[in-house]
Amino acid sequence: MIHDVLIIGSGAAGLTAALALAETRKVLVLAKGSLTGGSTAWAQGGIAAVLDTGDTFENHIRDTMVAGAGLNRRETVEYVIEQAPGSIQRLVDLGVPFNGTGSDLHLTREGGHSHRRIVHVDDATGWAVQEALLNAAMAHDNITLLPGRACIDLITGRNAERYSGSGRIWGAYAADESTGKVEAHVARATILAAGGAGRCYRFSTAPRGATGDGIAMAWRAGARVANMEFMQFHPTCLYNLEVKNFLITEAVRGEGGHLLHPETGRRFMPDYDERGELAPRDIVARAIDDQIKRYGLDFVNLDISHRPPEFVREHFPTIHDKLLGLGIDMTRQPIPVVPAQHYTCGGVIVDLDARTDLPGLWAAGECTESGLHGANRLASNSLLECFVFGEAAARDINSCWTDLDEPPAIREWDESRVTHSDEEVVIKQNWTEIRRFMWNYVGIVRSTKRLERAARRIDLLGREIDEYYGAFRVTTDLIELRNLHQCAELIVRSALSRHESRGLHFTLDYPETDPVARDTVLVP
Ligand SMILES: Cc1cc2nc3c(=O)[nH]c(=O)nc-3n(C[C@H](O)[C@H](O)[C@H](O)COP(=O)(O)OP(=O)(O)OC[C@H]3O[C@@H](n4cnc5c(N)ncnc54)[C@H](O)[C@@H]3O)c2cc1C
Repeated sequence: MIHDVLIIGSGAAGLTAALALAETRKVLVLAKGSLTGGSTAWAQGGIAAVLDTGDTFENHIRDTMVAGAGLNRRETVEYVIEQAPGSIQRLVDLGVPFNGTGSDLHLTREGGHSHRRIVHVDDATGWAVQEALLNAAMAHDNITLLPGRACIDLITGRNAERYSGSGRIWGAYAADESTGKVEAHVARATILAAGGAGRCYRFSTAPRGATGDGIAMAWRAGARVANMEFMQFHPTCLYNLEVKNFLITEAVRGEGGHLLHPETGRRFMPDYDERGELAPRDIVARAIDDQIKRYGLDFVNLDISHRPPEFVREHFPTIHDKLLGLGIDMTRQPIPVVPAQHYTCGGVIVDLDARTDLPGLWAAGECTESGLHGANRLASNSLLECFVFGEAAARDINSCWTDLDEPPAIREWDESRVTHSDEEVVIKQNWTEIRRFMWNYVGIVRSTKRLERAARRIDLLGREIDEYYGAFRVTTDLIELRNLHQCAELIVRSALSRHESRGLHFTLDYPETDPVARDTVLVP
């Protein structure tokens, strides 16, 4: 079936675009797993916007550029920040129950922001936003939502019955996750909103499906990708082999928690920064990483047991209860923590209209590099980027609709030469291997030697994965492995080509920052 617009992803970016298009177009939204399975539902803090009378756009722009270490595209930063109040108003209109009332929304302050400017719904903003967008999308006759569809590749002119070498995109091939059947979802316009690539790392706060599928698909289809070396790490995620992505809020350190070597019990943060545990996120993450690598540790301890038990229980009720369920009483014991990947700053290059390099393909949200974040994301700017670029893609598609051709006849997915795999273990083994060496060699502190080690392994695994992909029927695990590998390759290649330390990219071989900021642009 041919749709007006195909959207890959049902998070903040995808659903914003869907709702903005649905007045005039028939929209199909595909999601891997459940419709609420992306990062959007997990966002805790909130959304940044200049809403306080004492605040200005210029302040927000400056804070964003300082965080981004000068690599941001000023034009994008201005555009997004000026659109922010309007985006928040649209969410209010959709019924998102932000704390505060009417024009007097409650604003919190987060690291790196010089003013109070974060609107939120308690500490579960993402869930409230996801729910409101989804309810509105489900109620709209022009929007079809199909969960359980794992997109494999974008459809290009090469997949047309009458072969064309043009890079025009005509939708995507997707596997039905319950039957395994692959279908061509053909559309006049396609929007990628498939989220980040956090799962390239052994520890990540991102959901299971954040395997960089959108970035990898766009790259394979011929779109440029930029700044993939800039991966943001949260300093303290619970170290637990069962519960892989439970964040321990920075407030535990703010309220006096100490970071300790797990064997000697020595407090190590004062060795790295005079502010101790209250040093900025990146410094704390780097210090923990250094301890882990230097002493061959699995984790370090975060200890707040020296504060009165009632104080700890009262301030951190959710964390306290969660940990107790795992056998850790934080009023009496330290919490094992590791830094964890948290946000993918780089991605598919888009302009202010959310256009990618490829005709017929737009992109929005965490899978993109729009120029907003530069070398480091300012907290709570990422959901905002999803709303602004989701809207931008919809507006641009509407404005050029009459110029978009009808799709040609597209070839069916060819499964005649593949069989069912009898060695699923290969997928699990490779997946684990990638995430481990990315963590150990391409993590918070890098060196050329470590990056080259990772590059050699990526090369080796690439051949194995290609062979496997060519011989067996696709499953979601295989699709994800292929994309994880592709993104790992893009991250390492980008990191190797940056001969300086800037923002989130810190390398022992080039510790200085160059006077001129340059994007790392990879061309397929
Ligand atoms: C724990 C946590 C806390 C955060 N807190 C904040 C915060 O307070 N403020 C803030 O601004 N940001 C926060 N972020 C970041 C923010 O949540 C994300 O950047 C944002 O939600 C990304 O939205 P998205 O629409 O781009 O992608 P997502 O919400 O991740 O959605 C991706 C969608 O793509 C689909 N998809 C992926 N691959 C495929 C495929 N192959 N085929 C079909 N569909 C596919 C998924 O199923 C999903 O529907 C947080 C992130 C995490 C993990």
